[in-house]
Amino acid sequence: MRYLVEADIHSNLEALQAVMTHAESQGGFDSIWCLGDIVGYGADPNACLTLLRSYPLAAVSGNHDLAAIDAVSIVKFNQHAKEAILWTREQLTSEHREFLASNPLRREEDGVTLLHGTPSDPVWAYFLPQMMTSSDVAENFGQINTRSCLVGHSHIPFICLEDGAQFLGLQPGQKKMLAQARCVVNPGSVGQPRDGDPRASYALYDADTDTFVHHRVDYDIEAAQAKITAAGLPDILASRLAVGR
Ligand code: ZN
Repeated sequence: MRYLVEADIHSNLEALQAVMTHAESQGGFDSIWCLGDIVGYGADPNACLTLLRSYPLAAVSGNHDLAAIDAVSIVKFNQHAKEAILWTREQLTSEHREFLASNPLRREEDGVTLLHGTPSDPVWAYFLPQMMTSSDVAENFGQINTRSCLVGHSHIPFICLEDGAQFLGLQPGQKKMLAQARCVVNPGSVGQPRDGDPRASYALYDADTDTFVHHRVDYDIEAAQAKITAAGLPDILASRLAVGR
């Protein structure tokens, strides 16, 4: 089975479409693994959900998904994120709302754990070196039953190896055997990258060969920005897409 691994789509339809097209050009996929935050920030929550749900899909909830269905409070969000969540709540169809409510916080698929934040706190915590001591990393590895775990939330692509709590960057085209060493991997964000590279970020995972490949894809950033502006969402949510921060 081949999986398209997507995190933090954040209602960015142009980025999502570009990722789908690119994934097809790389040999295609049988199913999608979605690591949460399908909605929030961008202007196309329903269209992104409709597109994703037209494929076989295993998704987990992110903090924005839960806030958009009023399942968690928005007090922890910054002002721009709050505005986008309140707008998204008004847009979501009842069918998409029910879908978001049906997703678990974590799941195991084909020997891999999927979740949004960290194994200890899948909704809010960030799996990032500046947020964790090496004993935090060890504790988090203790809470997964699989060799590897895929996460989102920080919008930064990385691999963290359990051995030595080492964080390594992920480069486009880089291949990784997930079962070789216990690891937590973030494929980066489809719809709002924050590592200084504005291209949409995702991965393909072939479970038969245990091969995970990271990819970056250009997309029509100006079209996504124009929709954010037209929706009356905060300008910063449009401008940041151009710089990938
Ligand atoms: Zn996010």
